[in-house]
Amino acid sequence: MPTRKPISRRDFVYQAGLTGLALPFSHSKLFTPTVKNKKDKLGIALVGLGGYATHQLAPALLETEHCYLAGIVTGTPSKIPDWKEKYKIPDANIYNYENFDTIRDNKDIDIVYVVLPNSMHAEFTIRAAKAGKHVICEKPMALTVEECDKMIKACKDANVQLGIGYRLHYEPFNQEMVRLGTQKVYGNIEKLNAGFAFTIGDPKQWRLKKAMSGGGPLQDIGIYCIQGICYTTGMEPVAVRATEGPKKDMEKFKEVEESLTWEFDMPNGLIAKGKCSYSESYNFLRAEAAKGTFELSPAYNYGGIQGKTPDGAMNFPRVNQQARQMDAMTEAIKKGEKIRTGGEMGKRDVKLINAVYEAMHTGKTISLV
Ligand code: NAD
Repeated sequence: MPTRKPISRRDFVYQAGLTGLALPFSHSKLFTPTVKNKKDKLGIALVGLGGYATHQLAPALLETEHCYLAGIVTGTPSKIPDWKEKYKIPDANIYNYENFDTIRDNKDIDIVYVVLPNSMHAEFTIRAAKAGKHVICEKPMALTVEECDKMIKACKDANVQLGIGYRLHYEPFNQEMVRLGTQKVYGNIEKLNAGFAFTIGDPKQWRLKKAMSGGGPLQDIGIYCIQGICYTTGMEPVAVRATEGPKKDMEKFKEVEESLTWEFDMPNGLIAKGKCSYSESYNFLRAEAAKGTFELSPAYNYGGIQGKTPDGAMNFPRVNQQARQMDAMTEAIKKGEKIRTGGEMGKRDVKLINAVYEAMHTGKTISLV
């Protein structure tokens, strides 16, 4: 059997340029605005300077209209000189994991963006909230629903906002799937399939260590399929069945699944199917509706998303998803409006992920209601 060359996350996604396309956002006034016109842009501090922070978020912060990279929090001092120079970050805005809590005294930092391994999201979100900062936390929000509850409570108690880094809610092709699905433009969806897979490299990375990741591809990329199913239908599943795929590499996948498939029972009777893998290659979101199929493939990359409908190819400008996401979140914070991909959505997905795992381990249908 031919072996596939392991690819890094950077190989299967690429960054696209920013355009000014605006999406319709609906907000409710829930928060008291915390900005007093002291400056036009809010300052973001990135916590964890790994691949996503380095190659996507920091460059995107050079393109954002409402926020900028004001600070960094890192456990690796050797990274500091490059970041300082590239992003003109003053020494006073550079923290490590130990002195991080003193960020509360730093007026330059309005928002803390947690980009650490999954198991560290809860701790740093809660510490950031206690320091009085708004928080953006990467997906998956946490490993357990209990952690999510604590994160939501910490933010509520501190009267700060919590946003989850669901960048595809700020991306026009995926938002078109929302419109076509929820407005039933091609009638009722009769079949819905979502899948995301890539071949993971380094066998020693935290993504393959259950205590840090919470699990395998479901936590990392299957979550996009869960999201796609929920936003394309506008519904949340009521039950789930799941099956683990065969493990071809027992050593690499000693602690986490290599691949898995699942079926969500949706409230209207639709069975939505998802699959994900760390040893294959696919990337799609496909809805077969009464009057034809609409789909994205690739669906979840940072750029290069392509879509088609019964009426032809989807045509939207390429956007910088991370810049759009951070701008939309910052704008909501500035206006005192609720971030639309907030902690409750993150918690819902953590609940769904854990239900998929329970179904996978028990072989039973797990009720979600
Ligand atoms: P990464 O491995 O490249 O970076 C992780 C960072 O955490 C590194 O800087 C590392 O030094 C630091 N770290 C601190 N303590 C650590 C420890 N005990 N073990 C390992 N690393 C430790 O990971 P990444 O790809 O940047 O992912 C970080 C987070 O961002 C994850 O939660 C991931 O799911 C999320 N992410 C989201 C997207 C997206 O498109 N929204 C894309 C990639 C990653």
